[in-house]
Amino acid sequence: AWDRLQDDLRSIDGQQYAQPVVARLKLQVLRSDKGAYKHLLGKYQHTSPTFTLSVDHVQGDAYASPSRVRAVLPWRETGLPDEYLQSDIRRIALCDFVTRVCASMIRAKHLDQNVSGGGGWSGPKGGAFNINSPGQEILPRTSAVTDGNDTIELRFTVSLPAAGRTVLGQQAYQILGVNLVELVEKSLVYANLDQEQLQLHVQTAENQQSLRHQLAEHNLTAFIANGSVLPRASGASETPMDSATVVPFKCPKDLKVELLRADGMEVSGMGVPRGVTLLTGGGFHGKSTLLEAIQLGVYNHVPGDGRELVVTDLKAVKIRAEDGRGVTSVDISPFISNLPGGKDTHHFTTDDASGSTSMAANIQEALEAGCKTLLIDEDSSATNLLVRDQRMQSLIRNEPITPLVAKARALYNHYGVSTIIVIGGLGDWLSVADLVIGLDSYVPRLLTTEAKSVVEKYPSNVQETPDYGSLPNRNLQVDLRGLRAPYAIRKHFIALKPEAKSAVDDPSEAEAGIDLSSLDQLVEIGQARTIAKLLQGIAQRTAKGGVPVAALMNSEADAIGIEHCLPTTLEHGDLVGVRRTEVVAALSRLRGLHVS
Ligand code: ADP
Ligand code: MG
Repeated sequence: AWDRLQDDLRSIDGQQYAQPVVARLKLQVLRSDKGAYKHLLGKYQHTSPTFTLSVDHVQGDAYASPSRVRAVLPWRETGLPDEYLQSDIRRIALCDFVTRVCASMIRAKHLDQNVSGGGGWSGPKGGAFNINSPGQEILPRTSAVTDGNDTIELRFTVSLPAAGRTVLGQQAYQILGVNLVELVEKSLVYANLDQEQLQLHVQTAENQQSLRHQLAEHNLTAFIANGSVLPRASGASETPMDSATVVPFKCPKDLKVELLRADGMEVSGMGVPRGVTLLTGGGFHGKSTLLEAIQLGVYNHVPGDGRELVVTDLKAVKIRAEDGRGVTSVDISPFISNLPGGKDTHHFTTDDASGSTSMAANIQEALEAGCKTLLIDEDSSATNLLVRDQRMQSLIRNEPITPLVAKARALYNHYGVSTIIVIGGLGDWLSVADLVIGLDSYVPRLLTTEAKSVVEKYPSNVQETPDYGSLPNRNLQVDLRGLRAPYAIRKHFIALKPEAKSAVDDPSEAEAGIDLSSLDQLVEIGQARTIAKLLQGIAQRTAKGGVPVAALMNSEADAIGIEHCLPTTLEHGDLVGVRRTEVVAALSRLRGLHVS
């Protein structure tokens, strides 16, 4: 019962977080060599509301990574309507909402603490609650999970309070025994929730998923609803631009498509058909902003985001140049052959790729992982991989690169892979586009006919190849030594711990890791954590021999996918759903990868 929690904490009050060695030897009657808080491991039962507090991990000392606890409620106890359990997308949106309620409550309490110096939750001696704090996307998260219809649970980290190394049992009771109960009541008891907001959250996610599922039957790669707000508040903020300055999205007549929301309402907006599409227009007229909205259209956005009705094919991948990245045995021969020194481009390996070779590898790896739409911005590309104009063709005879402009049509014809590309200055692309959309002061216009007549007036010499060439199909094998306890330290960086801290003090070892900064479609650090966790499993799975990328993409055992709930068996509360594409992309960037 709950009293036991208070008793337990009272009994360890004033004891040592970790027992000093001397004490351990002399007094074996003391509770073993574990720190006093370890005594809390296990379950405590609360009544009204009925829930179980499960203390799963207790930190070794006050400075170690925080303790992990869960509050598990019987579903019926919450009073939440059963309709929220009816599909994966509803469960995801519900749990996402609950996480947000918790996160904002914790934030408010911490603020309160700082302002008034009392009444808040985090003491100067630790005691801070934490829950993974979500951004603009509604995603599967292990911070709140439901197993179907029996239970729903919240997962937190807590730094258990101490003065130096002395346990502060009273304060710990305030946190676990009092504050946690309040959190559970306010975030999981239906009567206490903002029910309208919850309903809107779930409906919004459901509508987006429904629109996305209609893309294929309409032969579209993306859809942008009229009235959408695409630009963000600033380069550093993902919240929408202030409505006073924004030009809401307005579809050109000729590209108008009507789709149905999950609730049956019609939505009209711009459909981007499959094929080769150019987004063009003057500098600063909103090209990149449109492409960025499209690249994040693989996710569902929260109500009020402005991009709640912008949806994109789940298999669309943003591609950019990434010079300096490592590449392991990727077939880049469609784009590059005859490298100086006779370097093999069917199995291209390097520690330090150039702009063009990195971009070619990025395209080929994306295709290997099942990409159906390439999303490219001239701003972040290697120009020589995109085009090669007539003058350069005649000047440079031994150019090893065949640019994408010569391949984009073949890629679509042979493999059904579309391209959406932002082009401001490379007019050769007009020759291969099915569709040209021009942005004029943020307003899109259909320019295909005008582009055709420009092509006639100023012919260019794009030498399109009839075939695209081969797609890579690697058997990846991860060297376990190269992947020791990976963990995400930032959204875009997974660190690889050196085997032992006492090992040779090699500074390069400390920084060793997987750089994810070119993965523009990663939105939260929790996704990088999920990737890090999955990489460990993949490494073990591949230890006895290579596993084809296709098998990694299809494996059911892996806890990924943004359309499905994460398995409740995942212990950690800080994991967030991610596409397999990004997992394979991270794997491909691991130095010391083997290919068989
Ligand atoms: P481009 O890629 O064409 O050079 P950007 O997409 O980078 O242009 O946009 C230029 C600026 O215009 C950015 O600061 C962006 O936030 C802003 N912007 C983009 N779309 C809109 C819009 N619909 N309404 C208002 N401002 C916008
Ligand atoms: Mg731009």
